[in-house]
Amino acid sequence: MNEDFLGSDIKFLTGVGPKKAELLNKELNIFKFEDLLYYFPFKYTDRSKIYKISEINEEMPYVQLKGKFFSFILSGEKNSQRLNAEFFDETGSIEIVWFQGIKFVKDKIKKDKEYIIFGKPTVYRDKFNIAHPEIEEAESQNTKINAALQADYNTTEKLKKGFILSKNILSFQDTLFKVINGRITETLPDYLLQKFKFLSLSQSLFNIHFPQDVDKLKAARYRIKFEELFYSQLKILKIKNNRNQNTVGFIFKKIGDNFNNFYNNNLKFELTNAQKKVLKEIRADFLKGKQSNRLLQGDVGSGKTIVALLSMLIAIDNGFQACLMAPTEILAQQHFISITEFLKELNINIAILTGSTKTKARRLIHEQLLNAEIQILIGTHALIEDVVQFKNLGLAIIDEQHRFGVAQRAKIWTKNEIPPHVIVMTATPIPRTLAMTVYGDLEVSVINELPPGRKPIKTIHATDAKRLRIFQFLKEQIALGRQIYIVYPLIKESETLDYKDLEDGYESISRAFPSPQYAVSIVHGQMKNEEKEKAMQLFVKGITHIMVATTVIEVGVNVPNASVMIIESAERFGLSQLHQLRGRVGRGADQSYCVLMTSYKLSKEAKQRIFTMVNSNDGFEIAEADLKLRGPGDIDGIAQSGLGFNFRIANIVKDQQILQLARNTANDILDDDPELQKPENQILIKQMRKLRRSENIEWTKIS
Ligand code: ADP
Ligand code: MG
Repeated sequence: MNEDFLGSDIKFLTGVGPKKAELLNKELNIFKFEDLLYYFPFKYTDRSKIYKISEINEEMPYVQLKGKFFSFILSGEKNSQRLNAEFFDETGSIEIVWFQGIKFVKDKIKKDKEYIIFGKPTVYRDKFNIAHPEIEEAESQNTKINAALQADYNTTEKLKKGFILSKNILSFQDTLFKVINGRITETLPDYLLQKFKFLSLSQSLFNIHFPQDVDKLKAARYRIKFEELFYSQLKILKIKNNRNQNTVGFIFKKIGDNFNNFYNNNLKFELTNAQKKVLKEIRADFLKGKQSNRLLQGDVGSGKTIVALLSMLIAIDNGFQACLMAPTEILAQQHFISITEFLKELNINIAILTGSTKTKARRLIHEQLLNAEIQILIGTHALIEDVVQFKNLGLAIIDEQHRFGVAQRAKIWTKNEIPPHVIVMTATPIPRTLAMTVYGDLEVSVINELPPGRKPIKTIHATDAKRLRIFQFLKEQIALGRQIYIVYPLIKESETLDYKDLEDGYESISRAFPSPQYAVSIVHGQMKNEEKEKAMQLFVKGITHIMVATTVIEVGVNVPNASVMIIESAERFGLSQLHQLRGRVGRGADQSYCVLMTSYKLSKEAKQRIFTMVNSNDGFEIAEADLKLRGPGDIDGIAQSGLGFNFRIANIVKDQQILQLARNTANDILDDDPELQKPENQILIKQMRKLRRSENIEWTKIS
């Protein structure tokens, strides 16, 4: 079957032409016929129902009304004119407003004719109105376009100005299906279509754009969702299988002097059972002779660093180098300081490499990595740059993986001819089903226990009215020898405007906590690295009492003596971010507090977030709530994962059952035919190749 026409330039579709094509390119990434075919509606409206004006209420997203216009009133200056009209049926009237295309409306609409209008009612000065409704003469209704379930496509302001509205896209789709004329090649094997009684791809795509009825639409969506999830799982499982079969890995046989010495003589606390269990899992990986990739999940403060450190010691005892990569300079510095402190009794050479390492020091590091004088390298992204070469890197650890993409993880692989073992650590707990999708090619370990003696953090919600009392409380805490974080939100680290809140805050805090009795530091993203580092160190050493900061301190920062976290404008943060920030306290034995400051008025969603924080300390519970509130697209780690989860309609949270089915199906197929060599599976190979080609574009963006 010939499908080449789907690759045709969209400008050649009848009714599109070069001008509209340019808009479709720029605004919707539609370049070819195929792109249009896969530009799916975001919702469907029941256009069989016509409402009475008296039935309109605020909850209605869109309404369709039937009636007549009267009393057109033109107002405003020449360049900002406005046209108002009343539209009425037998039950009442509603105001209609136009800001553009006024002449067109005035010429087209006749007062004695009956019209069907379609639009979104909004309330203005206690009255309903509809701006820019779609308008059609009641008797000339086009049947196809007004099918019972009508597709609605997202458009942009620019598209609207270029006269490409949802209904125009619908009519392009109509033209396209005439061109296609049934010629769409199936993308799932016949045996799956049979087994699950799926609609064909051709039928599914048609029903997505022109649903014949509700059931057909459901079936069509189900099939397409399955297909999206199925291929993502097939891809991930195949990567995992290949790796398990083919990738030789280093064997770290012995537990040597460094490990034993540190574990028995220098470690000041007993590992939790969860830490021990995870260490065993890692150790088993090291003995298999296969390169291992493990995800280490553990809530904030669960003690992942020490597990990473012990793993590195095993690598070193077996004659290899190890590295630890962190997402921010502050965090890399902190790891360097704490690991140097942990290992001070041992004779191990540790170096740090970040963006701000001076050229001379950098050269020396490069040299000492090549001759293996450096055994542990800690750093930021700087350590995966091509110029950084190791003599024998055996283990790479990536902290706070959710800040990195797959591409960066992949780069670690190239640091040796035989790739090092990789452990990625994350404190952003993601629910299990999601983990198997996002990190589906990794083995997963979980530290599900906090070190003993930690008191749950008390979380309080407060508004400005309580500020003085909170300041009083902070003074009491400082008198007890504790330290305090005060965090301000930033939308973009680069925008000066954003810093106003922070700077105002810093000033008022400095006034309320005057020196010399109190000392206040500040860190934010616009400071030079040295200044940042200096401010951090003053706080770490307990010289300053209060740290005013932006979210640069969000991940990883560990100052056990800090016992209060104040989060300003907490309603502006997402749940996982709030949880991360709160995790900066509660790291020592003292009772810790988190105060969420918000304005008095809150949106429903913000209230829900604050409620969740006040009532739960459990990262997994919070992640679930987050997922429900926001959907997976916004969850840290998914967007950044770079795994191409740009599903058109599948939703890995809402469609968990389909996901499970897709994963099981992919698993069964690979069990039966690991290399996908059977004739009936050739279609899978072909489709995966096609998907990979389209994803390559994404990959270059993230690396
Ligand atoms: P995270 O998992 O958030 O990275 P860290 O590794 O920074 O947590 O550990 C938090 C704190 O808990 C550190 O001060 C660390 O030394 C301490 N810690 C880790 N494991 C234990 C343990 N088993 N018992 C007591 N304290 C521990
Ligand atoms: Mg950490």
